[in-house]
Amino acid sequence: MTNLLTQDLVWFDPDHIGTQHPELFEGLREHWKRSLWIIYVTVFANRSTKPGRYKMAVVVKNESIRIEKLELGPFGTNTYILTCPKTSMSAVVDAPGEADKILERLKGTNPKCILMTHNHMDHVGALLELKSKLSVPVAVHSADAGNLPLEPDQNLSDGDVVSIGEIQITVLHTPGHTPGSLCFLTGSYLISGDTIFPGGPGKTWSPAAFKQIVESLTSKIFVLPDETEVYPGHGGATTLKKEKQNFDIFSSKPHDPKLCGDVVWLSS
Ligand SMILES: [Zn+2]
Ligand SMILES: [Zn+2]
Repeated sequence: MTNLLTQDLVWFDPDHIGTQHPELFEGLREHWKRSLWIIYVTVFANRSTKPGRYKMAVVVKNESIRIEKLELGPFGTNTYILTCPKTSMSAVVDAPGEADKILERLKGTNPKCILMTHNHMDHVGALLELKSKLSVPVAVHSADAGNLPLEPDQNLSDGDVVSIGEIQITVLHTPGHTPGSLCFLTGSYLISGDTIFPGGPGKTWSPAAFKQIVESLTSKIFVLPDETEVYPGHGGATTLKKEKQNFDIFSSKPHDPKLCGDVVWLSS
């Protein structure tokens, strides 16, 4: 009896499972992660925002593209809906939560895909529901594919071009905030996920990741024209002209080699 009990308890000791049965530990971890997703998606991400808090705006509208921004989910993360006015084909960038609101705004368009800037929890809460209702491919960089609540349909790489009707979206791989972070460029509009915000880069969790995000920005983003409009994963827009100026000031000063976290170009 004692032996049985001890044996049973051992199965619940993660250290024991981790060392003796790594495959089981991995399985349990996956199971636990999936359970967390279900809790997050059902309890938080798709809970409707109070009417006053729900923000929606058409941020770009011309003869070749329409971009609509919705702030959704418990963290007010931005979803962007890109629509080709000539063909009515559309693409959704990120799926933070409140799938019903995204579906409502997609009415009258022909959705072709869901593009993911990265795999963080605050960007993916509506993914399962959107995928099941729209039946369109979910595309993400392979380095961020593992932590999504579903198996993505398509891997995106740097330089790929996604066509939505007559809209051409160029994929830029900009690692740093996450290993698989992507920015999406169409004409002079950049949907930047959590790679760049007004005043600074996205959060990084190590000095190496900070160096990586700076390298991504200098090699892929700051080489784009000044007039490029930047639409990030949280908050309002900025222009590359402003961000290049802020970054020039930052890079003209010495910095702690251990710098990372929430870096602000003008005060870090
Ligand atoms: Zn993020
Ligand atoms: Zn985010």
